[in-house]
Amino acid sequence: MRIFIMALLLWTYGLSAHAAPKPIPILMYHSIAEFKGSGIRDLYVSPASFEKQMQYLKDNGYTLLTFERWSEADKVEKPVLVTFDDGYENLWNAYKVFAKLKDDRFQPAGTIFAIADFINRPNRLSRLELLEMSDSGMFSIQSHTATHPDLRNITNYEYELKGSKEKFEAITGKPVIALSYPYGFVDDKVVAETKKYYQFAVTIRQGVFVAKGQADELYRLPRVFVTYDMTLEEFAKALQK
Ligand SMILES: [Zn+2]
Repeated sequence: MRIFIMALLLWTYGLSAHAAPKPIPILMYHSIAEFKGSGIRDLYVSPASFEKQMQYLKDNGYTLLTFERWSEADKVEKPVLVTFDDGYENLWNAYKVFAKLKDDRFQPAGTIFAIADFINRPNRLSRLELLEMSDSGMFSIQSHTATHPDLRNITNYEYELKGSKEKFEAITGKPVIALSYPYGFVDDKVVAETKKYYQFAVTIRQGVFVAKGQADELYRLPRVFVTYDMTLEEFAKALQK
């Protein structure tokens, strides 16, 4: 028994001396708008729900990071990333919520994974809008490729990965370092190509990221899928998993 207690004390001491890596939830959203019946319900979150969720993060001491500030995750209080795939125009609803909640203590920050060749389509953010979002300091514009293909089945990686990165960098004047794989599809070949141009890549695998020191773990980042009917309790729970 005494040996067991000693071992337990040593183990506890070891844990505090080498603090375990902090879990980093990466929230995944698509449209921030009311679902009106067309398309997939769970690719929407209503502006009211989104505001409640961001208010929860604010009230509970979360620090909203972007990929540029990834290295701060171990230093800040409760790190979390808020990401939006596909670059829809209705992300102005997210912008409004961020602007409303922003104060000296709470600095909202989100990452928009936009599709380079879809810019200026009717329901997507235009060049000017992406620039305005970026200049607000509340959004980082990152890449969701050029044409949203299944990256496992293409050969023109340079166009999809490097081309899209350069297009967004030309629009915002800021570095593009993170990629969102269309449909979350990824294999070893896709990771190898992505590594040439990016420091991070996100999937749609469900979960909260905890660093394990595995090769390529930053190129297979899991995310927390925020669904349309998720309650605030479910949202809070998903941040812990
Ligand atoms: Zn997508």
